[in-house]
Amino acid sequence: MIVGLTGGIGSGKSAASRVFESLGIGCVDADVVARDVVAKGSPALSAIAEKFGSDILTPEGQLNRGLLRERIFTSPADRVWLESLLHPLIREQMLAQLKQQLPPYSVLVAPLLFENNLDALCDETVLIDVPESVQRQRVTQRDRVDENQVQRIIDSQMSRSDKQARATHCLDNTGTLAHLESAILALHSHFVAKSS
Ligand code: ADP
Repeated sequence: MIVGLTGGIGSGKSAASRVFESLGIGCVDADVVARDVVAKGSPALSAIAEKFGSDILTPEGQLNRGLLRERIFTSPADRVWLESLLHPLIREQMLAQLKQQLPPYSVLVAPLLFENNLDALCDETVLIDVPESVQRQRVTQRDRVDENQVQRIIDSQMSRSDKQARATHCLDNTGTLAHLESAILALHSHFVAKSS
């Protein structure tokens, strides 16, 4: 059984996944998988260098993400090419890693779970839910960014109400971390019961 865990920037996904991990539940991070498939020396990175030229690589042989972002921003066809290369690889890797986790269930952590239709891989989904004001406040405390930068990222993500409508479970994370923990504990019991 696979549980998808999502939420906008600063909603508390990492905090929530730490709680699942403390309960012995394996968590796979979609962003980490997406980085790993284009790691130095990977077949996907070679294909990208062949397509875009070797200056898409840093002198150390890593992917120059900023440059690639620029290239696909100005060329929709290149974006489609890149997505059709990477999306199946990322999915395959995510599923392989999820399968390696112990029963009774595993968690797929993905900020863009709904945007990228990754909920199709999940039996149930959990939205960590806070108002935008809380996202702005927690991210500016966590990272060296200003509220406008956070707002731009929030605006680029699916709206809160659309995510609420699509999630199986919404966990309000405006309270303390202890509140979040007990809400996850209750969900954990539900998932354990459902998977047995
Ligand atoms: P995400 O992974 O969704 O971007 P994080 O889990 O990193 O979000 O949470 C954003 C910030 O808010 C972190 O500094 C985290 O410690 C803090 N945080 C998360 N949940 C709570 C909470 N319930 N109360 C107070 N701070 C919280």
